[in-house]
Amino acid sequence: MMRNDDATYLWHPFTQAQTAPPPHIFVRGEGARLYDDTGRSVLDLISSWWVNLHGHAHPVIAAAIAEQAQRLEHVLFAGASHPTAIAYAKTLVDCLAPPLRRLFYSDNGSTAVEVALKIALQYWQNRGVRRRQRMLAFDGGYHGDTLGAMSVGRSSSFFRPFSSWFFPVDITRYASQSGEQDIEAQERRALHELDRYLAHYGNDLAACILEPLVQGASGMRMARPSFVRDVAERVRATGALVIFDEVFTGFGRTGTLFAYQQLDFVPDLLCVAKGITGGFLPLAATIATEEIYEAFLAPNAERAFLHGHSFTANPLGCAAALASLALFESEATFERISALTEIHRRELPRLAALPGVRRTRFCGSIAAFELEAHPDEIARFAEQMYATDVLIRPLERTIYLVPPYCLLPEDLRRVYALMARALRA
Ligand SMILES: *Cc1c(COP(=O)(O)O)cnc(C)c1O
Repeated sequence: MMRNDDATYLWHPFTQAQTAPPPHIFVRGEGARLYDDTGRSVLDLISSWWVNLHGHAHPVIAAAIAEQAQRLEHVLFAGASHPTAIAYAKTLVDCLAPPLRRLFYSDNGSTAVEVALKIALQYWQNRGVRRRQRMLAFDGGYHGDTLGAMSVGRSSSFFRPFSSWFFPVDITRYASQSGEQDIEAQERRALHELDRYLAHYGNDLAACILEPLVQGASGMRMARPSFVRDVAERVRATGALVIFDEVFTGFGRTGTLFAYQQLDFVPDLLCVAKGITGGFLPLAATIATEEIYEAFLAPNAERAFLHGHSFTANPLGCAAALASLALFESEATFERISALTEIHRRELPRLAALPGVRRTRFCGSIAAFELEAHPDEIARFAEQMYATDVLIRPLERTIYLVPPYCLLPEDLRRVYALMARALRA
């Protein structure tokens, strides 16, 4: 019945309904586990598309939302504010390096990116620097599915039908440990290409956007911190703004609260979403330096940033975000993340010895490898994992684990054992 209604009424994201198997229908979640309508349960090793941090239906976050819902469910955010949005902005900004000071709320990763792109473009206009109009992004970058976000993520194969609608964006080479070539050679080539580009267009560049340390959607492509820093410093040296899209890498995924904290480099604009509410509600933020904010001040409306969404700074989302951030301390989350990292470090080399497994890699809580196999075999591998207790969702040939931080070390070790067994079969 429920399955028929799903097939009759719903249009699922990123899904070819004609060939896809019917979706799992999950009725409950607790900790790292999801329970489906057939009475089975699985460990959620994709953190529900990378949004969950502390586990499903976490009682502390659930209670914070319930409490907020009974006090103030929503209020507009222009000419108005509310205590939960103020408290979260202050708490998050206190976790960031000092130049990042001004938080602009929106409601998902794509809008956090759109906001950063629009702020960057208007920033130069407000300052009277008309020629800085170009945008630079990286090959393999993914920044969301709205038109501006697609334009800076144009190398993604998802976007082919819209290519004639893309805004002009320049794309430069990325260097990752999942690449075919040796990493030093890739980095040299990428930096050389970037230098040539910047020599030509450095003075026309408004901003450069990139995912620091890990390009998520294009296949968990992990870069070395020194490379990301070199890129960011070169862009900054031209005077252009640097935007870090930490929609995926934020909130502990890479082992620090934000990936930029491993780089010795602070971006001008920081985009966060996905994990921000611990996986409970849609919310996002774009954090800018005070200097950028000041370029929007004027005695008239002309220079103001005229952008907003109906649900900007939704109080329920802000309450969840505050509760989620507090859990990092009360649940010693970074210790949990290090324990998961250590297991990746120990287990991945063993997987690497299995047939078809290539380029094993990890960064903080994220682990990935390539599986050289036919797409049907990869689908069978994922089904086999589900049948033996684990939900994964390969990105083409990339098999990855993005565990919720509450996953017990023994459960992660068991996931590796189950993967090894399925790979051997
Ligand atoms: C998922 C993602 C986005 C888009 O976020 P949505 O909430 O899906 O719109 C943007 N950037 C990165 C790096 C992402 O991983």
